[in-house]
Amino acid sequence: MSAQRLPAQIAPYKYARQGMSLKGVLSLAGMERLQGALASPEGQVEVDLEFGRDEQGTYFVRGSLQATVEMVCQRCMEAMPVEITAEIKLGFCGSDGMAEGIPDEYEPCVVEEELIVLSDLVEDELILALPLVALHPDKSCQPWLEQNKAETIEQEVTEERKNPFDVLKDLKPQK
Ligand SMILES: [Zn+2]
Repeated sequence: MSAQRLPAQIAPYKYARQGMSLKGVLSLAGMERLQGALASPEGQVEVDLEFGRDEQGTYFVRGSLQATVEMVCQRCMEAMPVEITAEIKLGFCGSDGMAEGIPDEYEPCVVEEELIVLSDLVEDELILALPLVALHPDKSCQPWLEQNKAETIEQEVTEERKNPFDVLKDLKPQK
């Protein structure tokens, strides 16, 4: 693999004219908006991007981002790893008003300066790719939850079997 040191700032139009590609890793630690949704600041994102200009003259970047982040399982409230893959296909434009001119196959990306911060662009795309709610796959929550359930079931032997979602409701944080 030809991993390279990623620049902090990129010049989207210049890169597109030159047909540049970027491959490397970025730390998640500096991405404060993303951190708000995560259980841990640890981790990095693999960046694989290719800039170019299509036949209609649209300047674009396409590629993928891959990261494993820690989110809180909303069933057992323990941290769990979540794999994120974001497929990117952005068409650059100079202002919000020009976004309509970007072909539908691209997500418009407004670039008002010559240089933009790479980690901001990556962070925006990772946030869009995050699951709304993280949950362990069925029945694979932490063991303490299973123990907790077992105790509850003993007490319920003479009661009618409760809807299992009532248990979940009690475990969810009150918002
Ligand atoms: Zn869980």
